[in-house]
Amino acid sequence: MSGLELANELAARETVRVEVIERGPATRKEHVLWDGGTHLGDEKTRRWAGEGWGPGGGLSERLGGRSLCYHGVFLGVEAPALAAWPVEWIDRLEGHYRTLPQELEGSFPELRQRFRVAEGLGLRHVPQAAVLSADRTLMKAYTPLTRATALAEAGTVEIVRAAVVRVHPRGRSWIVDVTDPEGTPGQRGPFDACVLTSSAIGNVQLLSRSLDREVETNLTDHLCVGGLVRLPPGRPLTEYRNRKLWAGYLPVPELNTNIFVREFEPAPNGDRLLDIHAVVEQDASDEGSSTLLALPRSRPEAHITPMVSEEDEAKLVEVRHRVSALASLIGQEPVRALAESPGTLDQARAAIATGAPNSVAYYRMPYGEYEHESSTHPIGGKAIEVGTDLEVAELPGVHVAGPGAFPRMGAANPALTILAMSRSLAAVLHGRYS
Ligand SMILES: Cc1cc2nc3c(=O)[nH]c(=O)nc-3n(C[C@H](O)[C@H](O)[C@H](O)COP(=O)(O)OP(=O)(O)OC[C@H]3O[C@@H](n4cnc5c(N)ncnc54)[C@H](O)[C@@H]3O)c2cc1C
Repeated sequence: MSGLELANELAARETVRVEVIERGPATRKEHVLWDGGTHLGDEKTRRWAGEGWGPGGGLSERLGGRSLCYHGVFLGVEAPALAAWPVEWIDRLEGHYRTLPQELEGSFPELRQRFRVAEGLGLRHVPQAAVLSADRTLMKAYTPLTRATALAEAGTVEIVRAAVVRVHPRGRSWIVDVTDPEGTPGQRGPFDACVLTSSAIGNVQLLSRSLDREVETNLTDHLCVGGLVRLPPGRPLTEYRNRKLWAGYLPVPELNTNIFVREFEPAPNGDRLLDIHAVVEQDASDEGSSTLLALPRSRPEAHITPMVSEEDEAKLVEVRHRVSALASLIGQEPVRALAESPGTLDQARAAIATGAPNSVAYYRMPYGEYEHESSTHPIGGKAIEVGTDLEVAELPGVHVAGPGAFPRMGAANPALTILAMSRSLAAVLHGRYS
Protein backbone atom coordinates (compact mmCIF):
# COMPACT_ATOMS: atom_id res chain seq x y z
CA MET A 1 0.00 0.00 0.00
CA SER A 2 2.59 2.59 1.10
CA GLY A 3 5.03 1.89 -1.76
CA LEU A 4 2.60 2.20 -4.67
CA GLU A 5 0.98 5.34 -3.24
CA LEU A 6 4.44 6.91 -3.00
CA ALA A 7 5.41 5.79 -6.52
CA ASN A 8 2.19 7.26 -7.95
CA GLU A 9 2.71 10.60 -6.25
CA LEU A 10 6.35 10.84 -7.32
CA ALA A 11 5.65 9.80 -10.90
CA ALA A 12 2.80 12.32 -11.15
CA ARG A 13 5.39 15.08 -10.76
CA GLU A 14 7.08 13.87 -13.96
CA THR A 15 10.64 15.01 -13.20
CA VAL A 16 11.44 11.90 -11.14
CA ARG A 17 12.05 8.44 -12.62
CA VAL A 18 10.50 5.79 -10.38
CA GLU A 19 11.13 2.05 -10.17
CA VAL A 20 9.02 -0.20 -7.97
CA ILE A 21 10.59 -3.52 -6.94
CA GLU A 22 7.89 -5.95 -5.77
CA ARG A 23 8.55 -9.51 -4.66
CA GLY A 24 5.03 -10.83 -5.30
CA PRO A 25 3.22 -11.52 -8.58
CA ALA A 26 1.20 -8.92 -10.50
CA THR A 27 -1.66 -11.32 -11.21
CA ARG A 28 -4.36 -9.91 -8.92
CA LYS A 29 -5.91 -6.74 -10.31
CA GLU A 30 -8.94 -6.43 -8.02
CA HIS A 31 -9.74 -6.60 -4.32
CA VAL A 32 -10.21 -10.09 -2.83
CA LEU A 33 -13.84 -9.21 -1.96
CA TRP A 34 -14.51 -8.22 -5.59
CA ASP A 35 -12.62 -10.98 -7.37
CA GLY A 36 -12.80 -14.03 -5.09
CA GLY A 37 -10.90 -16.21 -7.59
CA THR A 38 -7.57 -17.89 -6.91
CA HIS A 39 -4.45 -16.14 -8.17
CA LEU A 40 -1.32 -18.26 -8.06
CA GLY A 41 1.35 -16.94 -5.72
CA ASP A 42 -1.12 -14.47 -4.25
CA GLU A 43 -1.86 -16.51 -1.11
CA LYS A 44 -0.46 -15.56 2.26
CA THR A 45 2.62 -17.77 2.40
CA ARG A 46 5.14 -16.03 4.65
CA ARG A 47 4.17 -16.19 8.29
CA TRP A 48 6.06 -14.56 11.09
CA ALA A 49 8.13 -16.82 13.33
CA GLY A 50 7.40 -16.53 17.03
CA GLU A 51 5.09 -18.08 19.53
CA GLY A 52 1.70 -16.45 19.79
CA TRP A 53 1.78 -14.62 16.47
CA GLY A 54 -1.66 -15.41 15.09
CA PRO A 55 -2.13 -17.80 12.17
CA GLY A 56 -3.50 -15.01 9.92
CA GLY A 57 -0.43 -12.81 10.44
CA GLY A 58 2.10 -12.34 7.68
CA LEU A 59 2.36 -10.75 4.30
CA SER A 60 0.16 -11.04 1.27
CA GLU A 61 2.93 -10.88 -1.28
CA ARG A 62 1.56 -9.44 -4.49
CA LEU A 63 1.68 -6.20 -6.39
CA GLY A 64 -0.75 -3.99 -4.45
CA GLY A 65 0.04 -5.65 -1.10
CA ARG A 66 -2.75 -5.55 1.44
CA SER A 67 -4.52 -2.68 -0.36
CA LEU A 68 -6.21 -5.57 -2.21
CA CYS A 69 -7.68 -7.11 0.94
CA TYR A 70 -8.19 -4.30 3.51
CA HIS A 71 -11.65 -2.90 4.22
CA GLY A 72 -11.06 0.76 3.44
CA VAL A 73 -11.71 2.09 6.95
CA PHE A 74 -10.22 5.59 6.80
CA LEU A 75 -9.59 7.10 10.23
CA GLY A 76 -6.92 9.62 11.17
CA VAL A 77 -4.76 9.15 14.27
CA GLU A 78 -6.64 10.84 17.14
CA ALA A 79 -5.18 13.94 18.81
CA PRO A 80 -3.66 12.41 22.00
CA ALA A 81 -1.70 9.82 19.98
CA LEU A 82 -0.82 12.34 17.26
CA ALA A 83 0.87 14.42 19.98
CA ALA A 84 3.68 11.81 19.98
CA TRP A 85 4.48 12.70 16.35
CA PRO A 86 6.87 15.52 15.32
CA VAL A 87 4.98 18.75 14.85
CA GLU A 88 5.81 18.88 11.09
CA TRP A 89 4.02 15.57 10.70
CA ILE A 90 0.92 16.69 12.57
CA ASP A 91 0.46 19.46 10.00
CA ARG A 92 1.27 17.19 7.04
CA LEU A 93 -1.12 14.45 8.17
CA GLU A 94 -3.99 16.72 9.09
CA GLY A 95 -3.82 18.30 5.62
CA HIS A 96 -4.08 14.91 3.92
CA TYR A 97 -6.77 13.70 6.37
CA ARG A 98 -8.93 16.51 4.94
CA THR A 99 -8.06 16.27 1.25
CA LEU A 100 -7.70 12.52 0.65
CA PRO A 101 -11.31 11.57 1.54
CA GLN A 102 -12.59 14.58 -0.45
CA GLU A 103 -10.56 13.47 -3.47
CA LEU A 104 -11.83 9.88 -3.26
CA GLU A 105 -15.47 10.26 -2.20
CA GLY A 106 -16.75 10.54 -5.79
CA SER A 107 -15.51 6.99 -6.50
CA PHE A 108 -16.00 5.60 -2.98
CA PRO A 109 -19.46 6.70 -1.79
CA GLU A 110 -19.08 4.82 1.53
CA LEU A 111 -16.78 7.66 2.64
CA ARG A 112 -19.72 10.02 3.01
CA GLN A 113 -22.77 7.91 4.03
CA ARG A 114 -24.83 9.18 6.97
CA PHE A 115 -27.22 7.09 9.11
CA ARG A 116 -29.78 8.81 11.30
CA VAL A 117 -30.63 5.89 13.63
CA ALA A 118 -26.95 5.16 14.36
CA GLU A 119 -26.16 8.83 14.87
CA GLY A 120 -29.14 9.15 17.21
CA LEU A 121 -27.42 6.61 19.48
CA GLY A 122 -24.21 8.66 19.55
CA LEU A 123 -22.36 6.59 16.92
CA ARG A 124 -20.10 8.38 14.44
CA HIS A 125 -19.99 7.54 10.77
CA VAL A 126 -17.18 5.13 9.78
CA PRO A 127 -15.62 6.53 6.61
CA GLN A 128 -14.78 3.59 4.34
CA ALA A 129 -13.00 4.15 1.02
CA ALA A 130 -15.16 1.39 -0.36
CA VAL A 131 -17.62 0.82 -3.20
CA LEU A 132 -20.20 -1.95 -3.67
CA SER A 133 -21.27 -3.75 -6.82
CA ALA A 134 -24.79 -2.92 -8.10
CA ASP A 135 -26.28 -5.94 -6.24
CA ARG A 136 -24.20 -5.05 -3.12
CA THR A 137 -22.72 -8.53 -2.82
CA LEU A 138 -19.16 -7.46 -3.78
CA MET A 139 -16.99 -4.76 -2.23
CA LYS A 140 -13.68 -3.18 -3.12
CA ALA A 141 -11.63 -0.55 -1.36
CA TYR A 142 -9.36 2.20 -2.69
CA THR A 143 -6.06 0.80 -3.97
CA PRO A 144 -3.09 2.71 -5.41
CA LEU A 145 -2.64 -0.26 -7.77
CA THR A 146 -5.21 1.16 -10.22
CA ARG A 147 -3.20 4.33 -10.81
CA ALA A 148 0.16 2.51 -10.68
CA THR A 149 -1.00 0.13 -13.43
CA ALA A 150 -1.95 3.08 -15.67
CA LEU A 151 1.39 4.81 -14.98
CA ALA A 152 3.28 1.58 -15.72
CA GLU A 153 1.39 1.19 -19.02
CA ALA A 154 2.29 4.79 -19.89
CA GLY A 155 5.94 4.02 -19.10
CA THR A 156 6.10 6.56 -16.25
CA VAL A 157 6.67 3.95 -13.53
CA GLU A 158 8.72 0.82 -14.03
CA ILE A 159 7.56 -2.22 -12.06
CA VAL A 160 10.12 -4.99 -11.60
CA ARG A 161 9.34 -8.36 -10.03
CA ALA A 162 12.10 -9.28 -7.58
CA ALA A 163 12.65 -9.63 -3.82
CA VAL A 164 14.79 -6.89 -2.34
CA VAL A 165 17.56 -8.37 -0.19
CA ARG A 166 19.43 -5.22 0.93
CA VAL A 167 20.56 -1.81 -0.24
CA HIS A 168 24.19 -0.58 -0.25
CA PRO A 169 25.97 2.56 -1.40
CA ARG A 170 28.06 2.99 -4.56
CA GLY A 171 29.57 6.44 -4.51
CA ARG A 172 26.69 8.85 -3.91
CA SER A 173 24.12 6.39 -5.29
CA TRP A 174 22.33 3.31 -3.99
CA ILE A 175 22.40 -0.22 -5.37
CA VAL A 176 19.60 -2.68 -4.53
CA ASP A 177 20.52 -6.37 -4.27
CA VAL A 178 17.58 -8.49 -5.41
CA THR A 179 16.62 -12.08 -6.07
CA ASP A 180 14.39 -12.84 -9.04
CA PRO A 181 11.44 -15.29 -8.79
CA GLU A 182 13.74 -18.16 -9.91
CA GLY A 183 16.11 -17.37 -7.03
CA THR A 184 18.82 -15.80 -9.21
CA PRO A 185 20.62 -12.90 -7.50
CA GLY A 186 20.88 -9.57 -9.33
CA GLN A 187 21.14 -5.85 -8.77
CA ARG A 188 19.00 -2.79 -9.61
CA GLY A 189 20.17 0.80 -9.72
CA PRO A 190 22.11 2.98 -9.25
CA PHE A 191 19.41 5.16 -7.66
CA ASP A 192 19.68 8.64 -6.11
CA ALA A 193 17.39 7.53 -3.29
CA CYS A 194 15.57 4.41 -2.08
CA VAL A 195 12.41 4.10 0.00
CA LEU A 196 11.78 0.87 1.89
CA THR A 197 8.04 0.08 1.99
CA SER A 198 7.95 -3.68 2.54
CA SER A 199 5.73 -3.42 5.70
CA ALA A 200 6.64 -2.60 9.30
CA ILE A 201 8.30 -5.96 9.87
CA GLY A 202 9.75 -6.43 6.37
CA ASN A 203 11.46 -3.02 6.56
CA VAL A 204 13.32 -4.00 9.73
CA GLN A 205 14.56 -7.16 8.02
CA LEU A 206 15.83 -5.09 5.07
CA LEU A 207 17.43 -2.55 7.41
CA SER A 208 19.15 -5.29 9.41
CA ARG A 209 20.68 -6.75 6.24
CA SER A 210 21.59 -3.33 4.80
CA LEU A 211 23.25 -2.24 8.06
CA ASP A 212 24.72 -5.73 8.49
CA ARG A 213 23.79 -5.93 12.13
CA GLU A 214 21.12 -7.43 14.33
CA VAL A 215 18.26 -5.05 14.97
CA GLU A 216 16.14 -5.53 18.07
CA THR A 217 13.19 -3.21 18.22
CA ASN A 218 9.61 -2.89 19.47
CA LEU A 219 6.51 -3.87 17.58
CA THR A 220 2.89 -3.20 18.32
CA ASP A 221 -0.46 -4.26 16.88
CA HIS A 222 -4.01 -3.44 17.77
CA LEU A 223 -5.77 -5.66 20.26
CA CYS A 224 -9.28 -6.66 19.39
CA VAL A 225 -12.23 -7.88 21.46
CA GLY A 226 -15.87 -7.86 20.51
CA GLY A 227 -19.27 -9.34 20.96
CA LEU A 228 -21.80 -10.90 18.61
CA VAL A 229 -25.20 -9.68 19.74
CA ARG A 230 -28.74 -11.01 19.25
CA LEU A 231 -31.60 -8.58 19.83
CA PRO A 232 -35.37 -8.97 19.36
CA PRO A 233 -36.81 -7.74 16.03
CA GLY A 234 -36.68 -3.94 15.72
CA ARG A 235 -35.56 -0.98 13.67
CA PRO A 236 -32.03 -1.58 12.28
CA LEU A 237 -29.21 0.94 12.70
CA THR A 238 -28.92 1.27 8.93
CA GLU A 239 -30.38 -0.24 5.85
CA TYR A 240 -28.46 -3.52 5.27
CA ARG A 241 -25.80 -3.03 2.57
CA ASN A 242 -22.92 -5.53 2.92
CA ARG A 243 -21.35 -7.61 5.74
CA LYS A 244 -18.07 -5.67 5.59
CA LEU A 245 -19.59 -2.22 6.06
CA TRP A 246 -19.85 -0.66 9.51
CA ALA A 247 -22.92 1.26 10.73
CA GLY A 248 -20.96 3.52 13.06
CA TYR A 249 -18.30 3.73 15.75
CA LEU A 250 -17.87 5.11 19.23
CA PRO A 251 -14.49 6.59 20.17
CA VAL A 252 -13.52 5.72 23.77
CA PRO A 253 -10.43 7.93 24.21
CA GLU A 254 -9.89 7.08 27.89
CA LEU A 255 -9.29 3.44 26.83
CA ASN A 256 -7.44 4.30 23.55
CA THR A 257 -10.19 2.41 21.78
CA ASN A 258 -12.67 2.71 18.94
CA ILE A 259 -15.76 0.50 19.17
CA PHE A 260 -17.28 -0.33 15.78
CA VAL A 261 -20.82 -1.60 15.17
CA ARG A 262 -22.22 -3.42 12.18
CA GLU A 263 -25.60 -5.00 11.73
CA PHE A 264 -26.07 -8.14 9.67
CA GLU A 265 -29.19 -9.33 7.90
CA PRO A 266 -31.78 -10.42 10.50
CA ALA A 267 -32.04 -14.07 11.61
CA PRO A 268 -34.83 -16.17 9.96
CA ASN A 269 -37.10 -15.45 12.98
CA GLY A 270 -36.53 -11.68 12.59
CA ASP A 271 -34.05 -11.27 15.48
CA ARG A 272 -31.44 -8.55 14.91
CA LEU A 273 -27.79 -9.73 14.69
CA LEU A 274 -24.92 -7.32 15.33
CA ASP A 275 -21.16 -7.33 15.72
CA ILE A 276 -19.73 -4.86 18.22
CA HIS A 277 -16.00 -4.85 17.66
CA ALA A 278 -13.40 -2.90 19.65
CA VAL A 279 -10.01 -1.90 18.24
CA VAL A 280 -7.66 -1.14 21.12
CA GLU A 281 -4.24 0.50 21.08
CA GLN A 282 -1.65 -1.42 23.06
CA ASP A 283 0.18 0.25 25.92
CA ALA A 284 2.19 2.82 23.96
CA SER A 285 5.41 2.48 26.01
CA ASP A 286 8.37 0.32 24.85
CA GLU A 287 7.78 -1.91 27.88
CA GLY A 288 4.18 -2.48 26.80
CA SER A 289 4.80 -3.69 23.26
CA SER A 290 6.27 -6.78 21.62
CA THR A 291 9.87 -7.14 20.48
CA LEU A 292 11.13 -7.93 17.01
CA LEU A 293 14.61 -9.28 16.41
CA ALA A 294 15.84 -9.21 12.79
CA LEU A 295 19.00 -11.08 11.89
CA PRO A 296 21.37 -10.06 9.07
CA ARG A 297 21.67 -13.52 7.54
CA SER A 298 21.42 -14.49 3.90
CA ARG A 299 18.03 -16.04 4.69
CA PRO A 300 15.73 -13.44 6.23
CA GLU A 301 14.71 -14.21 9.77
CA ALA A 302 12.48 -12.27 12.12
CA HIS A 303 11.70 -13.40 15.65
CA ILE A 304 8.79 -11.84 17.41
CA THR A 305 8.27 -12.02 21.15
CA PRO A 306 4.62 -11.14 21.58
CA MET A 307 3.67 -9.06 24.57
CA VAL A 308 0.25 -8.23 25.92
CA SER A 309 0.87 -6.55 29.27
CA GLU A 310 -1.21 -6.89 32.44
CA GLU A 311 -2.34 -3.28 31.88
CA ASP A 312 -3.53 -4.24 28.40
CA GLU A 313 -5.40 -7.26 29.80
CA ALA A 314 -7.09 -5.05 32.40
CA LYS A 315 -8.00 -2.55 29.67
CA LEU A 316 -9.54 -5.32 27.58
CA VAL A 317 -11.86 -6.25 30.46
CA GLU A 318 -12.97 -2.60 30.68
CA VAL A 319 -13.47 -2.49 26.91
CA ARG A 320 -15.64 -5.62 27.11
CA HIS A 321 -17.88 -3.82 29.61
CA ARG A 322 -18.24 -0.96 27.12
CA VAL A 323 -19.18 -3.45 24.38
CA SER A 324 -21.90 -4.82 26.64
CA ALA A 325 -23.12 -1.30 27.53
CA LEU A 326 -23.32 -0.36 23.86
CA ALA A 327 -25.26 -3.55 23.04
CA SER A 328 -27.73 -2.70 25.82
CA LEU A 329 -28.07 0.86 24.54
CA ILE A 330 -28.81 -0.33 21.01
CA GLY A 331 -31.31 -2.97 22.19
CA GLN A 332 -32.80 -0.69 24.89
CA GLU A 333 -32.65 -3.70 27.28
CA PRO A 334 -29.76 -5.18 29.31
CA VAL A 335 -27.93 -7.92 27.38
CA ARG A 336 -26.82 -11.17 29.02
CA ALA A 337 -23.38 -12.68 28.32
CA LEU A 338 -23.58 -16.27 27.03
CA ALA A 339 -20.15 -16.98 28.61
CA GLU A 340 -18.06 -14.86 30.96
CA SER A 341 -14.75 -15.15 29.04
CA PRO A 342 -14.38 -14.38 25.36
CA GLY A 343 -13.87 -17.29 22.97
CA THR A 344 -12.79 -17.37 19.35
CA LEU A 345 -14.92 -15.69 16.70
CA ASP A 346 -16.12 -19.13 15.54
CA GLN A 347 -17.14 -20.06 19.09
CA ALA A 348 -19.03 -16.77 19.43
CA ARG A 349 -20.80 -17.41 16.09
CA ALA A 350 -21.89 -20.88 17.24
CA ALA A 351 -23.08 -19.55 20.61
CA ILE A 352 -25.09 -16.63 19.24
CA ALA A 353 -26.73 -18.85 16.58
CA THR A 354 -28.74 -20.54 19.34
CA GLY A 355 -28.69 -17.70 21.91
CA ALA A 356 -31.82 -16.03 23.23
CA PRO A 357 -32.68 -12.42 22.28
CA ASN A 358 -30.79 -9.77 24.30
CA SER A 359 -27.65 -11.91 24.58
CA VAL A 360 -24.01 -11.35 23.64
CA ALA A 361 -21.24 -13.84 22.83
CA TYR A 362 -17.82 -12.29 23.40
CA TYR A 363 -14.83 -13.07 21.21
CA ARG A 364 -11.20 -12.06 21.09
CA MET A 365 -8.98 -12.01 17.99
CA PRO A 366 -5.56 -13.69 18.36
CA TYR A 367 -2.87 -11.08 18.94
CA GLY A 368 -1.07 -10.26 15.69
CA GLU A 369 -3.94 -11.38 13.49
CA TYR A 370 -5.27 -7.87 13.03
CA GLU A 371 -2.38 -6.91 10.72
CA HIS A 372 -2.11 -3.34 11.96
CA GLU A 373 1.51 -4.01 12.98
CA SER A 374 3.41 -0.77 13.36
CA SER A 375 6.05 1.42 15.04
CA THR A 376 9.03 -0.89 14.39
CA HIS A 377 11.29 1.91 13.07
CA PRO A 378 9.45 5.02 14.32
CA ILE A 379 10.47 8.56 13.49
CA GLY A 380 12.79 9.53 16.34
CA GLY A 381 13.09 5.89 17.54
CA LYS A 382 16.04 4.31 19.35
CA ALA A 383 16.81 1.01 17.58
CA ILE A 384 17.11 2.66 14.15
CA GLU A 385 17.49 6.40 13.89
CA VAL A 386 14.87 7.71 11.48
CA GLY A 387 14.74 11.48 10.89
CA THR A 388 11.76 13.74 10.41
CA ASP A 389 11.90 13.25 6.63
CA LEU A 390 11.89 9.47 7.13
CA GLU A 391 15.58 9.20 6.21
CA VAL A 392 17.63 6.51 7.96
CA ALA A 393 20.49 8.35 9.69
CA GLU A 394 22.99 5.51 9.11
CA LEU A 395 22.01 5.24 5.40
CA PRO A 396 21.66 8.80 4.02
CA GLY A 397 19.50 8.69 0.90
CA VAL A 398 17.55 5.65 2.16
CA HIS A 399 14.09 6.42 3.51
CA VAL A 400 11.38 4.31 5.13
CA ALA A 401 7.61 4.68 4.83
CA GLY A 402 4.53 2.90 6.12
CA PRO A 403 3.20 2.01 9.56
CA GLY A 404 6.66 1.00 10.82
CA ALA A 405 7.51 4.72 10.91
CA PHE A 406 4.53 5.69 13.11
CA PRO A 407 5.70 7.10 16.48
CA ARG A 408 2.26 6.08 17.77
CA MET A 409 -0.68 4.47 16.01
CA GLY A 410 -3.47 5.40 18.43
CA ALA A 411 -6.73 3.49 18.08
CA ALA A 412 -7.18 4.45 14.41
CA ASN A 413 -6.88 1.92 11.60
CA PRO A 414 -3.62 2.80 9.83
CA ALA A 415 -4.45 3.04 6.08
CA LEU A 416 -5.37 6.73 5.89
CA THR A 417 -2.19 7.66 7.75
CA ILE A 418 -0.13 5.31 5.56
CA LEU A 419 -1.43 7.03 2.41
CA ALA A 420 -0.98 10.49 3.94
CA MET A 421 2.60 9.62 4.92
CA SER A 422 3.45 8.39 1.41
CA ARG A 423 2.03 11.54 -0.15
CA SER A 424 3.97 13.74 2.26
CA LEU A 425 7.20 11.86 1.63
CA ALA A 426 6.70 12.19 -2.13
CA ALA A 427 6.62 15.96 -1.72
CA VAL A 428 9.83 15.87 0.35
CA LEU A 429 11.66 13.62 -2.13
CA HIS A 430 10.49 15.63 -5.10
CA GLY A 431 11.87 18.78 -3.49
CA ARG A 432 15.20 17.08 -2.90
CA TYR A 433 15.83 15.01 -6.00
CA SER A 434 13.95 16.40 -9.00
C1 LIG B 1 -8.15 -8.27 6.00
C2 LIG B 1 -7.53 -6.93 6.33
C3 LIG B 1 -8.36 -5.83 6.47
C4 LIG B 1 -7.79 -4.59 6.78
N1 LIG B 1 -8.61 -3.51 6.84
C5 LIG B 1 -8.09 -2.28 7.09
C6 LIG B 1 -8.93 -1.13 7.07
O1 LIG B 1 -10.14 -1.21 6.81
N2 LIG B 1 -8.37 0.08 7.34
C7 LIG B 1 -7.03 0.20 7.63
O2 LIG B 1 -6.60 1.31 7.93
N3 LIG B 1 -6.21 -0.88 7.60
C8 LIG B 1 -6.70 -2.10 7.33
N4 LIG B 1 -5.86 -3.19 7.26
C9 LIG B 1 -4.42 -2.98 7.48
C10 LIG B 1 -3.72 -2.45 6.21
O3 LIG B 1 -4.06 -3.25 5.11
C11 LIG B 1 -2.20 -2.46 6.42
O4 LIG B 1 -1.91 -1.66 7.56
C12 LIG B 1 -1.46 -1.87 5.23
O5 LIG B 1 -1.73 -2.58 4.04
C13 LIG B 1 0.04 -1.92 5.47
O6 LIG B 1 0.66 -1.31 4.35
P1 LIG B 1 2.18 -1.61 3.98
O7 LIG B 1 2.50 -0.81 2.78
O8 LIG B 1 3.02 -1.44 5.20
O9 LIG B 1 2.22 -3.18 3.68
P2 LIG B 1 1.58 -4.03 2.48
O10 LIG B 1 0.30 -3.42 2.00
O11 LIG B 1 1.52 -5.44 2.96
O12 LIG B 1 2.65 -3.89 1.32
C14 LIG B 1 3.96 -4.43 1.44
C15 LIG B 1 4.43 -4.84 0.04
O13 LIG B 1 5.84 -5.11 0.07
C16 LIG B 1 6.08 -6.30 -0.67
N5 LIG B 1 7.34 -6.87 -0.16
C17 LIG B 1 7.57 -7.43 1.05
N6 LIG B 1 8.86 -7.79 1.17
C18 LIG B 1 9.47 -7.43 0.01
C19 LIG B 1 10.81 -7.53 -0.47
N7 LIG B 1 11.79 -8.06 0.27
N8 LIG B 1 11.09 -7.09 -1.73
C20 LIG B 1 10.11 -6.52 -2.51
N9 LIG B 1 8.83 -6.41 -2.09
C21 LIG B 1 8.52 -6.85 -0.85
C22 LIG B 1 4.85 -7.16 -0.40
O14 LIG B 1 4.72 -8.19 -1.36
C23 LIG B 1 3.75 -6.13 -0.46
O15 LIG B 1 3.29 -5.91 -1.77
C24 LIG B 1 -6.38 -4.45 6.97
C25 LIG B 1 -5.56 -5.57 6.81
C26 LIG B 1 -6.12 -6.80 6.50
C27 LIG B 1 -5.22 -7.98 6.33
